[in-house]
Parts: sequence; C-alpha cells; structure tokens
Amino acid sequence: MTDAFRAEARDWLAAHVPAAPLPSLDTAEGFEAHRAWERSLAAARLAVVTWPAAYGGRDATLAEWLVFEEEYHAAGAPARVGQNGLSLLAPTLFAFGTGEQRDRLLPRMAAADDIWAQAWSEPEAGSDLAALRSRAIRGDGGWLVSGAKTWCSRAAFADRAFGLFRTDPGAERHRGLSYLLFGLRAPGVSVRPIRQLGGRTGFAEIFLDEVFVPDSDVVGEPGDGWRIAMSTASHERGLSLRSPGRFLAAASRLVSLWRRSGGDPALADRVADAWIGARAYQLHTQAAAARLAAAGPFGPDLGAAAGGGRGGAGRGRADSPAGRIGREAVLRRGRLPGGPGRAAGARRDRLHRRARAEPVPAAGPRAGAGVGDFSRAPGPGAAGARPREPRGRGVAWTLFVPTDPPQGGRRSDEGPPPQAAK
Ligand SMILES: Cc1cc2nc3c(=O)[nH]c(=O)nc-3n(C[C@H](O)[C@H](O)[C@H](O)COP(=O)(O)OP(=O)(O)OC[C@H]3O[C@@H](n4cnc5c(N)ncnc54)[C@H](O)[C@@H]3O)c2cc1C
Repeated sequence: MTDAFRAEARDWLAAHVPAAPLPSLDTAEGFEAHRAWERSLAAARLAVVTWPAAYGGRDATLAEWLVFEEEYHAAGAPARVGQNGLSLLAPTLFAFGTGEQRDRLLPRMAAADDIWAQAWSEPEAGSDLAALRSRAIRGDGGWLVSGAKTWCSRAAFADRAFGLFRTDPGAERHRGLSYLLFGLRAPGVSVRPIRQLGGRTGFAEIFLDEVFVPDSDVVGEPGDGWRIAMSTASHERGLSLRSPGRFLAAASRLVSLWRRSGGDPALADRVADAWIGARAYQLHTQAAAARLAAAGPFGPDLGAAAGGGRGGAGRGRADSPAGRIGREAVLRRGRLPGGPGRAAGARRDRLHRRARAEPVPAAGPRAGAGVGDFSRAPGPGAAGARPREPRGRGVAWTLFVPTDPPQGGRRSDEGPPPQAAK
C-alpha cells in the first residue's frame, strides 16, 4: 500500500508541480496562486491525506503521510498556504471540536475555500500570551468580541482566524479565556497589513469591534481556551510542520549544489554531516512511528522530539535537533559557490531560491562508503537496507533514499526549508 501510494503521489506531483516557483505567498497574487495549488491537491485527494475520507482525506497511516511528505518536498512542491488551518486548527478540532464544527469547517479547509490565520499575539501579549486583553462579552446566542491582534501571518489575505479571548473579565492570566473562530471579513473586523522591509505584507494586525461570534464558533467550553490553545501550540511544535522529508530535501539539494560546485573536499565532511543529520532524523521518526503504531495512537509528542520553530508563545525550540539540522543545511549551502552566502537583500533571496531549486542528488552514500564520499554513491533505484516490514501494523519500514531528481518541480518562494512557512 505504501509503495503504491508513493508511486501515486510521485506521479501526480511530477505532472502537476509548477515548473516555475509560484509568487510569494506573502503577496495577494502569490496567496491566490498557492490557494489554486491547494485546490488542485484537494481535487487529487492529496491535500489532507491522513484525514477521514468524509472530510477530503484518504485515511492514510502515519507511514503513508511520511512517504507523502518525502515525495512532496523532493518534488519541490509549493509551500502549504493553508497550514495554519491544516496543521494547527484541524488537529485541535479533531480533539476538541464538535461533530457539527468538524463537518462544517474541515471540508472547506481541505478544499482551500477557507484559509485560516492564527490570532494569538497582541501588542502587549507576545511571549506572555496570558496577558492578552482582547475580550468577548456575552451576547444573544454568542459573544461580542473586541480588541487587537498582531503579527498574524498572511491574515491580510486569509478568510478566517482562530484566537484566544478573555470571556471572564474577573479571571486572571490563563483562566477565563475562550477559543473563538471568526471571519476576517465579518462586520466589525478590520485587517491592517504590516508592510515588512522587503515590501511584502507577510503579517497583519486585526482589529475587532464588537464582532459577533456565535456559540457554534466556540471551540471547547467557554473558559477552557488556554488548555485548547496549548493543544494547538503543541501541534505547531509538532511533526506535521517539520516532516523528515522536508529536511531531507533541503540536505539533498545541499549535496547536489556541493557536487555541482566542484565538490570542494574541505567542505565534504560538513556537507555529509548535514545530509546524515537529515537522514538520522528521518530514521528516528520512522522508528518512532513504528513504535507508536505498535503501541497505539500518536500525538504531538512525536513531533515535539523534532521541535524547531520560532521563539514566542507556543513556538518550538529553535535549538531542537530538527531546527538545527535544517538550519545548518541552509547555512552550509550559503557557504558554497552559488549558494545564498552573505549576499544582501534581493540578491540573497534570489540565490537562496535558486539553491532551494537544486535537484535532489542521485542517491545518498552507499553502505561502506566514507560518509563524505558522495561521489561514489549508488545510482538511481538503489535503496538502503530494508528490515522486514512488520505485518498488520500499517507501518512501512522502507528506508527512503532519494533516488530521483525532482520531477520538473521548483521550490516556491517559501521561507528557509527548516522553518515552517508561518
Ligand atoms: C515569522 C513569525 C510569524 C508569526 N506568526 C504569528 C501568527 O500567525 N499569529 C500570531 O498570533 N503570532 C505570530 N507571531 C508572533 C509570535 O508568535 C510571538 O508572539 C511574538 O513574536 C513575540 O511577541 P513580541 O514580538 O511582542 O515580543 P516580546 O514578547 O515582547 O519579546 C521580546 C523579547 O523579550 C524576550 N522576553 C519576553 N519575555 C521574557 C521573559 N519573561 N524573560 C526573558 N526574556 C523575555 C523575548 O524572548 C524576546 O526576545 C509570529 C512571529 C514570527 C516571528
């Protein structure tokens, strides 16, 4: 099943990944281009492979999802513009939402009809999220929400947002908060883009003036918002935003760039180290997935081992293994001729994009070869040792070695590979 799924995903990606990078998803044009890409994924039932079929998925196992991610990133497919919803809100709804909420919200999310923004941060509540001041007052059949949110990624273009609001004015800090959903074009909502130095509006402020949120858009019980938000945050630190395939693709492109730029022996060990790190993360995850499949359901704790991400409330640890591995792959690429290097501004961005668009190398080092010896790697089709696949557990032990160049795909204009495109 996993091999068939890999073949299906690979073939589809080969035929559909845009040949040229999409414009930045921090622009209106790029956002819509990425939405169109999400729609084509959804039409192929590849947008949310692990979700139930009723919501647009195909009930894929964790092993199949890992395979999908490997193929997705090896193909240089576009960044997932819907990730706030797909990777953060959706698992929260699966855990805390009502059946009605799941039926109403998830199919639209999967189809990219609703793209979600995350509205946690406030001007006086960043790292200290429990200091938030936005409040919701009880109204007829719902809540009237007022306040200001900031640093909301891509809220300038998104459709809806989830956030945390104080519903009990008498409660302090983590108590008396509720997890609410609202439309970004609802009456009383104003969205003000925050223009960054490069000119793009990657973030926005959201101002809410007595915005009506019906009871049906409260996730969990009123007052229980902190606990539910921490569940969302744990997914932000979790596996779904930093699959091994993502890091392996970055490291593989580093190897390719090193080879094409002359294979400087002085850099061989460091290049090999980056690739080995990514591969170790992949194997670690596969082993953890196999253990979890044997023992029962898995949760964000698996991804917490991966960690990574940014500082601030609910963010992952930047010094985690995955964050470090991916960052090093990018940094090392920067020290290679043609890599992003220390060039400034637009030139650095251009070089960075080009580096990310490098093809995946023919293969990793073969067994017995020196770790720095990528020139003696086996040819296409070679695979690492294959332990026996345990039967009836739904977990494949196939060890993925990147064997083919990307199928005509190019990296989109996303952030550096080790970080989630928040
Ligand atoms: C790329 C990116 C995307 C983001 N996207 C979103 C989004 O979609 N939605 C959203 O809601 N937010 C988003 N944020 C905001 C982010 O999650 C944090 O809330 C925010 O960056 C931190 O808040 P602040 O900027 O007010 O900094 P502050 O909280 O004021 O922190 C400033 C500095 O003080 C340090 N500091 C703070 N408290 C302490 C302490 N007690 N002890 C020691 N040092 C301390 C911090 O480490 C930091 O260096 C995003 C941020 C980034 C960088």
